[in-house]
Parts: sequence; C-alpha cells; structure tokens
Amino acid sequence: MELENEKIESKNFIELIIDKDLEEGRFDHVQTRFPPEPNGYLHIGHAKSILLNYGLAKKYNGKFNMRFDDTNPTKEKEEFVESILKDIKWLGADWEDRLFFASNYFEQMYEAAIKLIKKGKAYVCDLSPEEIREYRGTLTEPGKDSPYRNRSVEENLELFDNMKKGVYKDGEKVLRAKIDMTSPNINMRDPIIYRVAHMTHHKTGDKWCIYPMYDFAHPIEDAIEGVTHSICTLEFVPHRPLYDYFVDELKDGKDLEDNRPRQYEFNRLNLTYTVMSKRKLLALVEEKLVDGWDDPRMPTICGLRRRGYSPESIRKFIDMIGYTKFDALNDFAMLEAAAREDLNMRALRLSAVLDPVKLVITNYPEGLSEEMDAINNPENESEGTHKITFSKELWIERDDFMEDAPKNFYRMVPGKEVRLKNAYIVKCTGFKKSEDGKIEEIYCEYDPQSKSGMEGANRKVKGTLHWVSVNDCLEAEVRIYDRLFMVENPSADERDFRELLNPDSLKVLQKCYVEKYAAQNTTNRYLQFQRIGYFTYDTSSTPEHLVFNKTVALKDTWAKKK
Ligand code: ATP
Ligand code: MG
Repeated sequence: MELENEKIESKNFIELIIDKDLEEGRFDHVQTRFPPEPNGYLHIGHAKSILLNYGLAKKYNGKFNMRFDDTNPTKEKEEFVESILKDIKWLGADWEDRLFFASNYFEQMYEAAIKLIKKGKAYVCDLSPEEIREYRGTLTEPGKDSPYRNRSVEENLELFDNMKKGVYKDGEKVLRAKIDMTSPNINMRDPIIYRVAHMTHHKTGDKWCIYPMYDFAHPIEDAIEGVTHSICTLEFVPHRPLYDYFVDELKDGKDLEDNRPRQYEFNRLNLTYTVMSKRKLLALVEEKLVDGWDDPRMPTICGLRRRGYSPESIRKFIDMIGYTKFDALNDFAMLEAAAREDLNMRALRLSAVLDPVKLVITNYPEGLSEEMDAINNPENESEGTHKITFSKELWIERDDFMEDAPKNFYRMVPGKEVRLKNAYIVKCTGFKKSEDGKIEEIYCEYDPQSKSGMEGANRKVKGTLHWVSVNDCLEAEVRIYDRLFMVENPSADERDFRELLNPDSLKVLQKCYVEKYAAQNTTNRYLQFQRIGYFTYDTSSTPEHLVFNKTVALKDTWAKKK
C-alpha cells in the first residue's frame, strides 16, 4: 500500500465551500483576488490573505487577480504599489497578466451610482459628517431619516452631477444608498457610497473629485472581474448584507442564485509582540522608531525578508496556523519554529565568532596553515564542501571557555580536551588574564593524530567548538534582534504603543569574525553560523564591510528567558 493514499487530506472551510459550489454547478471555475489598498507596505497578515487567495486559485486550477483597491487617494502612493507587487512576487504568488486597479473602474462605478439614483435607491445628502453620525443611531437605537432622503430622481441626478463637476467642497455633500435607517445592521442605514474629495489620485490625477466608498466599490470590482469567491477578514461579516445588496441592485435582475460574487470571511493573522495595524507601522517608520519599512524587526514582508526569512518559511507558518472563523493571537515563536525548520534545509553552514577571544596552539608550527574541509549543508550532501584555513592562532567564542567550569561544561576548560570543528582535538594548557580579570588569550596543544576525517581520529571527546583563523578571517558587523515590543499583545494595552517598544530589540556587535568564504560565496542568502543561529547578509552588507542580520537562534531561547 502506498503511504500517499493513506494521507487524509484536510480541507479548510473555504475549500469545502468551493467544493460545494463546484458540485452544485454554481460555478465551473474559481476566481479569487488580493485587494490591498496601496497605503502602506504589506505585513505578514497580508501574506496569509495572499497565500489563501493564490493557493485556492492554484489548487482549483482557477485564476488569481492582483487588484489595488485605490479608492482613497489621501494615503495612497506609487511607492506602496511597487513595494506591494515586489513582496507578492517574492512570496511566490503569480497574478500572470491580471494586474488591476479599482481606479480602472471609476467610470463603471459612477454609472452604477447613476443607476441607483435612477431606481430611486440613492440620494444626495447635505448633512454634515457629524449629523450623519448622529442620525445613524446606535446598536440599540434605530436611526432617523435624513431630511434629504426624499429628493426627486431629477434633483439627485443634478446634484450628483454637480458633485462630480467639483461644485462642492469636501464633506459638503455625499451620495447615500437609500436602504433602511431602522435596520438592525448599522451598515445598512443609508451608507455613504460617494464622497467629495478634491485630491490628486496616483493613477487618475485630477480627473475625479468624487470617490466611491469601499462597501460600494468592492462588490463592483469583484463583479467586473468575475470574482467567484471574494475572501476577506472577519470584521467584514456585518458588511456582507451590503455587499449582497449592491450586487443584487446592480445586476439587472438576473436570478440571484447565479454566478454572482460572494463574500467569505476568515480570521486575520495577529502575532504576539508586534502590531499589524498599518497606521501604527507607518508611525513607527515616520517617527524613525525603526529603520524604515524593511527594518528586520518589523512584521512587514520586506522586514522579514531583510531579517533572513525565506518565502517558504512564511508559507510554512501560514500553513501551520490554518484558516478558521475565530480570531486569535498567533505565537511569534511559531513563526520562528517554521523558519528554523525551513532554514535548516537551505542554509549554508559557516563559522563565525561573535565575541572573540584568541586561542594559541602552542605546539602547532609557526607559519603553517592547513585547509580543512567544511560541509556546506549536512542536510543536503549535493551542496558539497568548502575550505576553511586552520593555523596556530584562532578566534573562539569567549563563552566557550571557563576557568572553573561545572562538570557538564563540555567546552574549553584548563586540562581538558575538546574538538575544534573540522580540525583537531586540543587540550587546554593555560590562559592569560588581564589585571581586571579579563581572559586575554587561551593556550592549548593539539594532537596531530586527531585530525577530522583521519584514519583512527575518531577518539571521543564530548564538546566541539567552532573557530576561525586569525590570519584568514574577515571582520564583520552582526545585528542581533529581539522582539520589537515588550508586551505580548501591544494592541490590547491601554498605553500608547510607542511606550511598549522593547529598548533592547537591537544589539549591534562590531569586530566579529567570519571565515572568508562568507564574502567569497554570497549566492546563498541563507546562512547558519554554526552553533549560534541562522543569519543573512543585510541589505547594506558589502564584501568590504560585511553586515549580518540574525534571523533566529538555533533553539528557542525566548521561551527560557520568559
Ligand atoms: P486598512 O484597511 O486599515 O488600511 P488592511 O490591513 O485591511 O488595512 P488592506 O490593504 O485593505 O489593508 O488589506 C488587503 C487584504 O489583506 C484585505 O483583504 C484584508 O482583509 C487582508 N488582511 C489585512 N490584514 C490582515 C491580517 N492581519 N490577516 C489576514 N488578512 C489580512
Ligand atoms: Mg482593509
């Protein structure tokens, strides 16, 4: 029996809906979309939405559209459009030739508004924003009709035309759908569908001074593109009746059970020790509390990329947490676990010493050096080996030595033996201390018969240390990151999020040493500094000034610290 057949495929709830739709013949294909507003950079929450929408299209042999929901020119910028496209590509989602902008449909949206007016289902309202809010009522009290609600079709057409022509100032008039001011669902209480905004749009320039609202625009965008499953996050559940209402009203009386787009909602991704709100992320960037959108501590896609996460590790994490209909807070440690699992398979193993102390092998010939073989990736033999130079003076980690060590310290201890990775067994013979008690040099003798790989050299010692050769290494800057925020759920905290930033989230180490291969071969961005963690080259790194970002430690040290 084949194992494959035994695997029970578990489907998420949206896949079950699609199965049913296809079975019942409501659709014969699947069309999804990802509709970001270009008002910021994408974060890992967006990755969840992208991978869901793209994944469904792929799984069902359907299509995935990339569509910018650019209906609010205040905060939208070309810079954001470019970064979003770059990040989606990097994640591996492919929209092929279907890159759309909601602003492409402004004409159709305008026509749709006219149509509603003509049906007597939309009116121009002169109430101020405050009055509109007041008239709307509350969750427990019904709203009141606007005094402008019963304007004639002709008057509404004329006023809406004036809105379009720029006769009115921002906020002076709006177009509202005429639905039901007593509806238990506040979203149905004559929602605004068009507003006046004298603003230059990043695509349409000054052509329009009226812009459609999200709830009106979105179903139209979906319908125009033939989207079958319009997937969004749970906060849109109460907006669904409005979505259906606009689809119905604008469909020209086709039967309602046909291939209309339908909205489905899933739980958003929330991560511990960070924030996902674009407003807050923008504030962090603008107030220079972080080093830009791609600061490696940011939960943005570009931040994670710069930090050294692979697209596969993000996909793995999203698969792990799954899609449900309940909001939850996902553990950052789980994202890190996914990264470790993935990077273990792809990282190039290198030696780096972050807190160096000199080790002198007193019986090793002066001036001699040997090339040792270092395995590039023990998880994948085909990646081969590279050479690392061994000589009389090496750098090792300061905390790999102890003068008076407890029994279970299997590293460098006076009188004890330890193996130097890919090289020899050495025995510590002494050390030199400065006046203030700092270890300045450590001395040892090597056993020439113990070279790694040598016949009979597999004599057993408990510890193995990494090292680099003093005369054959490169200096590097290494950036170590911790959680950006001190509290698990900054969004739930009463204090301003700025006060919750972790002051120790970045530690910069200078004068670290890495083996030369780190600068010679930069084809693999994913590195493992042996015994320390996963690292990558920072975007500012050059062969002359190497800068590394720590992606994640080899083990979860955070859990221990807590
Ligand atoms: P805002 O609307 O406040 O600007 P947003 O994060 O919703 O912020 P959009 O650009 O509208 O930004 O998001 C694009 C898509 O990504 C939407 O379909 C949205 O539902 C989805 N999305 C946003 N945040 C998350 C999240 N944390 N988890 C999952 N999906 C998300
Ligand atoms: Mg949104």
